[in-house]
Amino acid sequence: MTSGKKNIAILGSTGSIGQNSLQVIANLPDRFRVTYLTTNTNIDILEQQIEKFHPQGVVVLNKQYADALRSRIGDVKILSGSDGLLEIARRDDVDIVINSLVGFAGLLPTIEAIQHRKDIALANKETLVAGGELITAMVKEYGVKLVPIDSEHSAIQQCLAGEDRSAIAKIILTASGGPFLHTPLEKFRGITVQEALNHPNWKMGNKITIDSATLMNKGLEVIEARWLFDVPAEQIDVVIHPQSIIHSMVEFVDGSIKAQLGLPDMKIPIQYALTYPERVPLPGGRINFPQLHSMTFFYPDKEKFRCLPLAYEALAIGGTASAIMNAANEVAVQAFLERKLAFDKIAELIEQALHRMPNHRMPELGHIIEADAETRKLVRTLF
Ligand code: MG
Repeated sequence: MTSGKKNIAILGSTGSIGQNSLQVIANLPDRFRVTYLTTNTNIDILEQQIEKFHPQGVVVLNKQYADALRSRIGDVKILSGSDGLLEIARRDDVDIVINSLVGFAGLLPTIEAIQHRKDIALANKETLVAGGELITAMVKEYGVKLVPIDSEHSAIQQCLAGEDRSAIAKIILTASGGPFLHTPLEKFRGITVQEALNHPNWKMGNKITIDSATLMNKGLEVIEARWLFDVPAEQIDVVIHPQSIIHSMVEFVDGSIKAQLGLPDMKIPIQYALTYPERVPLPGGRINFPQLHSMTFFYPDKEKFRCLPLAYEALAIGGTASAIMNAANEVAVQAFLERKLAFDKIAELIEQALHRMPNHRMPELGHIIEADAETRKLVRTLF
């Protein structure tokens, strides 16, 4: 199917999702071709990716690093800055955009890609948290596919294959619980960056690993699910499942429940997003049930993990509240990573931002961008 080869741009190709995506693509050379790659500053890995995948062009967000790469290689177009991301989201030689950027920075390239009728494989969940209503409306308007790369949402999408939306009773998102599942609340103040970056099951980037430690990741995913599957927050439950084997479940109106299981390997949801609704072979480990011993489940402790109820609160408020929550979280997590903020203050700053920032009920893109920028300003004055 050479003529039907799809061209893929990966925004954030040097991160964990980007690297896994390239492994998936390398394994399906008859289906996919890489046309654009991007990084913020990681030009060493990008250079290796260019040698292996021969893209049409690359973007290095940081201008100095872009110049450094230009001095090393001459046979590929090198753009820089966030305009470069928007430019490749528009290109004719792009059919699918894998958005694995981190944070709110992923919103505008997603919008640009949708408006130019690209299908989106979305790992950048903050896009849907900040602008879910807007993005889902645009996906319909432009008739593109937006498929989640997040393992939980991929699981839900797989459970929903062949099902009618009206048959959904409940979405059950599973959460590993992160490294502090059994840490008492009074120890939260003293949690170090090193401890928080030590996730038990998944190897991921720093921002999402801290979000997993606070359970904000699950809060972001509740909001993501609300928009992706058009299900109200009251019908989205979170259950802790420390083994990360069931990636999420859907309960239907007749009481039947479907779950998607697999080893914790992001290549599975990445490949499914790229080939959806088809399923194709993927080499890798397989579950050996007797070796699992047991799978356990319990409800999250919402006193300890305040970020999770705050996400439900943001959804209930509506308007720009989720964008405010997301911006506050991004600033707080960055401050924690820079050792300027205690771990337990992350939730506190988000709560303050949610309650202090004015809410815009029917936000357009401009309101969302403003809410994000103003929240960042406010939160930076709070530590
Ligand atoms: Mg996830």
